[in-house]
Amino acid sequence: MTTEFTQLNLHPQLMQAVTELGYTEPTPIQSAMIPLMLAGSDVLGQAQTGTGKTAAFALPILQTIEPGLGPVQALIIAPTRELALQVSKAIYEYGRYRQIRVLSIYGGQPYGRQISRLRKGVDIVVGTPGRMLDLIKRKALDLSHIQTVVLDEADEMLSMGFVEDIETILEQTPGERQTALFSATLPSAIRRLADKYMRDPQSITIARKQLTVAAIEQRYYLVHAGDKLAALTRLFEVEEMTSALIFARTRLGTGELANELTVRGFPA
Ligand code: AMP
Repeated sequence: MTTEFTQLNLHPQLMQAVTELGYTEPTPIQSAMIPLMLAGSDVLGQAQTGTGKTAAFALPILQTIEPGLGPVQALIIAPTRELALQVSKAIYEYGRYRQIRVLSIYGGQPYGRQISRLRKGVDIVVGTPGRMLDLIKRKALDLSHIQTVVLDEADEMLSMGFVEDIETILEQTPGERQTALFSATLPSAIRRLADKYMRDPQSITIARKQLTVAAIEQRYYLVHAGDKLAALTRLFEVEEMTSALIFARTRLGTGELANELTVRGFPA
């Protein structure tokens, strides 16, 4: 059963943004999550990046907040500055026709700009736990009007040692808030957090296999480090390939591999 975006009863301004981004139908997590969040439920989502989880929580938030009200109405907590930036950019795009003001806050950036933006009024804050806590302590970030909190990549935040910061932040928000938690895995520490801070959460699990397109065949080869280059060139020789994308772990390794391949007649 596929759901259409039109069945999700999203605001026309949100539909316009989503359509312009080229989204033709909701992903499984969006079909499952959007109605639950619009109904006010707490949601525990087991899903990785690539499933469309950002729009799954961002669209209901954008639908329910009142743009320009003044105080911060939604808070999204993310483990890294990169994820916080990515999420705030996505929210900005989904909310562009609703005049939503979104601010990303993370460490390593001067406080001044973040504080003055908060003073002017922001609807949604996306940030990392440490900087969020600093801004709360400096009385620049007031969470007393928060309606929805999202914990994105909660397992990552826990393994980075942010659990106490997250609990302190959650305790500053109203008890009747809506909470959505995303995690690729659900270890006991995550379940404890959910038990303590969520109300009757609805669970949504997006199986890993739904992450990739059925037309893609996946294989892996276990080889010794010293044999990797030979194995790769062998693959190029035996498989019919016109082009390839190779991901390597380090910048140095990437450059070396490209040189070795070029030398062997595979321009990279
Ligand atoms: P996420 O899992 O939120 O990081 O999203 C992964 C990618 O899927 C992003 O590039 C989104 O722009 C894209 N995306 C999200 N929802 C949809 C959709 N319904 N249709 C097509 N692309 C989507």
